Amino acid sequence: MKTGAEYLKSIEEMSIPIYIDGRRLDNALEHPAVRAAAHAVAATYDMVHEPELADRLTVESHLTGEPVSFFQHVPQSVDQLVAKVNITRYMNRRLGICSFRCIQNAYAPLLYITRKIDLEKGTSYHSRLREWIIYMQRNDLLACPAITDPKGGRKIPAQEQPDPDMYLRVVDRNREGIVIRGAKLHQTGAAFSHEKLVLPCTTHRAGAEDYAVACAVPADAPGLVHISVRQSQDDRRKEGAEMDLGNIYYGVHECIVIFDDVFVPWERVFLCGEVEYLGELVNLFGTSHRPTTGGCKSGWADVLIAATQLMARYNGLERSAHVQDKLADMVAISETMYSCGLAAAMRGFQLPGAGYVADPVLANNTKYYASRAVFDLIRLAEDITGGILSCCPGEKEMKNPEISHWMERFLKGVDDVPAEHRLRMVRLIENISWGLGSILHSATHGGGSGQACKMSLLEFSRTQPHRSEALESALHLCGIK
Ligand SMILES: Cc1cc2nc3c(=O)[nH]c(=O)nc-3n(C[C@H](O)[C@H](O)[C@H](O)COP(=O)(O)OP(=O)(O)OC[C@H]3O[C@@H](n4cnc5c(N)ncnc54)[C@H](O)[C@@H]3O)c2cc1C
Repeated sequence: MKTGAEYLKSIEEMSIPIYIDGRRLDNALEHPAVRAAAHAVAATYDMVHEPELADRLTVESHLTGEPVSFFQHVPQSVDQLVAKVNITRYMNRRLGICSFRCIQNAYAPLLYITRKIDLEKGTSYHSRLREWIIYMQRNDLLACPAITDPKGGRKIPAQEQPDPDMYLRVVDRNREGIVIRGAKLHQTGAAFSHEKLVLPCTTHRAGAEDYAVACAVPADAPGLVHISVRQSQDDRRKEGAEMDLGNIYYGVHECIVIFDDVFVPWERVFLCGEVEYLGELVNLFGTSHRPTTGGCKSGWADVLIAATQLMARYNGLERSAHVQDKLADMVAISETMYSCGLAAAMRGFQLPGAGYVADPVLANNTKYYASRAVFDLIRLAEDITGGILSCCPGEKEMKNPEISHWMERFLKGVDDVPAEHRLRMVRLIENISWGLGSILHSATHGGGSGQACKMSLLEFSRTQPHRSEALESALHLCGIK
């Protein structure tokens, strides 16, 4: 299994080009924003080698029987679903940011659907997918989930859009493979992942067969173009800031990825034209992925709570009753997000021939709850931190000898904590709240909008036996026969 340094070297060697700051870089890792995000992933590769974590992060592949990284594994039990939530919380707590190791959440749903299509249609998608997952496991490679299409007018079906490429589609197919065209947006980690696992982001109806495609594409495939997003505080990285970053070690990075007629050989195509299976695939992916949010956001929240608690101490308010009360509210939010993820995992079930996924109602509830709760979390952090969160001079002022003595005096809280510590803590809270590593954006739309989760929650809950029992109970209790 790769170490962090080996992972970084392997990405470096791919020389993934990127358009960033208005120009093309031939190797995305040269840019500090991409590098900071890749270093977060490298830290997760290193964790697999830490003696106290090795047992938890090395598992036996159900495909080969070989030891593989937990992050490459298809969960084969409820315990492994639970472990995923716990490990994600642990990693995000250590990194204070997205640890970006959740592609495995796509494996079980896709293995299940490909097997189903093969059984019903005589195709060979399942064996191809198994081979690709084995390749990922043996080489310990990172894949980015390439799901979100540009979508144009949201109400217009793909095949009726004025621009036919608003959803990624197959534009050619021959004996060797297919050619795909379109774009995938908001791609976390695309510039430092070895592969892209292309999946549809929504269902399509008959007539839109060209838009039903799942496949794997290496990040350096001809025709792929990476265009970096611009985040609100990117310039801090470029100017070589340290304290002002908040999280001085790690970052997160997204791209738009253009698929400008990318050729994909058949052995990497896992679904092509079978629109009727997309509804189940999309739902199962949400079910599989969304419990991870409970671990992911609670790990992030753990750091925010700790930073807020420290800030309260720096402000001389750690024993104040209302501060304790608000910190308790923050803990309650974090533990509720975690509990939701845990419960979804514990009620998981097996998809035949594939692996385990969580309970669909509880999974969607996890993400829906988190998408709202993080706003409360940040409200409380900002409340306790004070106006300095949005009105804080920076490290350049701190280092300017003409004014630094005033900074040291007037940015101080309690006397035994230097102003610099207070500034660093403010920046960390800023980073996690709405800065370079914002939990808000990730919780609101990452993994699907809260609204999408809510709709799935309602849809799946309708089939739960206790809903019909409750209807009967309601009628019975008030005397309606
Ligand atoms: C930080 C971050 C990281 C991400 N990482 C990835 C990634 O790695 N890979 C990936 O593939 N994607 C990624 N995404 C994308 C994410 O999955 C999408 O942002 C999300 O699914 C919402 O899609 P959208 O942004 O197109 O917004 P929209 O779908 O336009 O949603 C905006 C609002 O419109 C509503 N809406 C949408 N369609 C309809 C409709 N037909 N009728 C009524 N209401 C509608 C939604 O419910 C929502 O309230 C990431 C997003 C973020 C913010």
